[in-house]
Amino acid sequence: MVTFEPCKRKHHSWYEGTDPSWTPSWGLAGEVEICDRCGTVRRRGINDRGETITVQYIWPDGYREARDEKASKAELRAAWFKREQRMGRVAKAPKKAAPRKLRSVG
Ligand SMILES: [Zn+2]
Repeated sequence: MVTFEPCKRKHHSWYEGTDPSWTPSWGLAGEVEICDRCGTVRRRGINDRGETITVQYIWPDGYREARDEKASKAELRAAWFKREQRMGRVAKAPKKAAPRKLRSVG
């Protein structure tokens, strides 16, 4: 089962793709990227000055309805932090070193 949590917490993991079913608007070059985790497709229409004129996302089924859709990225990161903490993967403060006894000289 695909989980959308990493994509919603961070961002999509894009790779260069193609979408033969899409024809960009006149005068624009089409850039297609696909997320290798969830399969979201991003189609960008770019003009001759390098500006993105159109952006279109095609989300996989269930992506937008997913339970965590309304959570902000910070909320998702906080939930992820708690999971990491439970797994013991959050660095703890170093233990205080015992104070050294100064040796008297001479
Ligand atoms: Zn994704």
